[in-house]
Amino acid sequence: MADITRRGFIGTTALAAGGLLIEVAADRTNVIAQTTKPGLPPPTEEYQLPPLPYAYDALEPHIDTTTLKIHYTRHHAGYTKGLNTAIGMSATMHKTGDYSAIQQVSRLLAFHMGGYLNHMLYWQNMAPAGKGGGGTPKGVLAKAINNAFGRFDTFKHHFSAAAKSVEGNGWALLAWHPVAERLIILTIGNHQDLVVAGAAPLLILDVWEHAYYLSYQNRRADYVDAWWHVVNWGDVAVRFEKALLIGK
Ligand code: MN
Repeated sequence: MADITRRGFIGTTALAAGGLLIEVAADRTNVIAQTTKPGLPPPTEEYQLPPLPYAYDALEPHIDTTTLKIHYTRHHAGYTKGLNTAIGMSATMHKTGDYSAIQQVSRLLAFHMGGYLNHMLYWQNMAPAGKGGGGTPKGVLAKAINNAFGRFDTFKHHFSAAAKSVEGNGWALLAWHPVAERLIILTIGNHQDLVVAGAAPLLILDVWEHAYYLSYQNRRADYVDAWWHVVNWGDVAVRFEKALLIGK
């Protein structure tokens, strides 16, 4: 199931990012049932809130229980609902032939699909400190980071600076671009702005205030620094190895 979730994330984000369609799949049971057969998955009727891979208190003290619970059950659930609404509005346009709301539908789709997928990645990118979370990357991912940034600490400083610099609501993202063949650090405005089309997301950090304000208030930098203790490098490495196969 995790395997399909990861493949689906890469594909749908590439689509949401701006139209460079690489692969469309999603984390849903009707696709999972067909994992043995390659090919085009059936269209998704309705997206569900993806399961959280750990308990609400699993990331304490770096991310507090109440924040995580509200973030998942309210915010992520809200984007799931918004994504289904946007897709429903698309279907209505197709039926009626009335495209007068096209700008609104396009904006809603990018925002809510971005929110849905970014949060899915954010949860899966983390693990309890000392139990899969923290430390440094290994293997091919570690080598790629060293190739791109010189050394891990330089990467970490760059990523942290990007996260701390986001104006208002947004994210920091490490992505592999399979056409440019480069690891890149981006910042995302809201859930969808400033993204490079086709970039495969590997590691994401939510810096919307709802992600940290109960514990850290205005001290976003402290949240960013603490977050490194719960980064699941094993998850990031699997994503990187899959991303290397895109287009091959
Ligand atoms: Mn969030």
